[in-house]
Amino acid sequence: METIGFIGTGVMGASIVKHLLSSGYKVNVYNRTKSKTDELVDLGAVWKETPKSVAEASELIFTMVGFPEDVKEVYYGENGIFNGVQPDSILVDLTTSKPSLAEEIYQTAKEKGVSSLDAPVSGGDLGARNGTVTTMVGGDEAAFEKVKPVFMTFSGTLELQGPAGSGQHTKMANQIMIAGTMTGLTELLVYAKAAGLNLEKVLKTVGGGSAANWSLQNYGPRILKEDYSAGFFVKHYIKDLGIALAEAEKLGIHLPATENAKRLYDQLKEDGHADDGTQALIKLWWEN
Ligand code: NAP
Repeated sequence: METIGFIGTGVMGASIVKHLLSSGYKVNVYNRTKSKTDELVDLGAVWKETPKSVAEASELIFTMVGFPEDVKEVYYGENGIFNGVQPDSILVDLTTSKPSLAEEIYQTAKEKGVSSLDAPVSGGDLGARNGTVTTMVGGDEAAFEKVKPVFMTFSGTLELQGPAGSGQHTKMANQIMIAGTMTGLTELLVYAKAAGLNLEKVLKTVGGGSAANWSLQNYGPRILKEDYSAGFFVKHYIKDLGIALAEAEKLGIHLPATENAKRLYDQLKEDGHADDGTQALIKLWWEN
């Protein structure tokens, strides 16, 4: 696995490509907006015109695009991966996407004589920059073992969760937890401010107790600095909550707290904040 293809060099993808390059891999890159690959090309990556041409020139192909529709396009489109993939290649989708789509890609890959893994990550823009994301993998063990050393160039925690789709299901479980930590962080700050407390002190103090969590630690300080730029886009979190709730329905379970978080984030999007980071949830209170 010397030559790697990477499709989707946004907030997360660009940082991951840098880890691949600094680990000595040759990397072919493609992104819908070409300029987002400029810095990577300066660092040694090779620009390819289409996902198909990335697949033709690479043994291991990562995708990290936005939504399930984007995943479909880069795999199944006329200029997509499946029209260029070479025998014995391995395809890895790092996008947070639907478990059913991961299963579909796995089947198509099998028919074409190649392997595929679903491998969504957690850890935010900082985790990607530091090369410490948590990577949740679904697929066959043999393919997982082959890709493991490459995953380790950008992962802090890595686990094969089960067959195709299991990585995406694990990520949905992760996003259900985040629904609680983001709404909890937001209401903590709304309450503390209304009570006239020093917010920096509150975050520092409760962050050392049983309320400690990743959202508080990483997004709390950004809110106090009024930095609402996207580490993780509101529009992507709404996509994730929608997938999680649809999967829950299929499983015959009811997740009222997750539904409530989705309602709040939908409201935030309606207010024009789809391209903010998820910490902008507090604008539902502080803008009014
Ligand atoms: P992002 O900055 O929007 O990156 C996605 C990239 O994919 C963009 O550069 C986009 O191109 C490109 N793209 C989309 N559709 C494409 C297509 N059809 N062909 C080629 N390129 C395409 O988003 P991100 O924050 O990196 O997130 C990527 C994925 O990881 C999402 O599914 C997200 O939910 C997930 N995720 C994000 C985080 C986080 O904290 N940011 C953490 C874990 C997981 P354009 O430049 O043209 O838009």
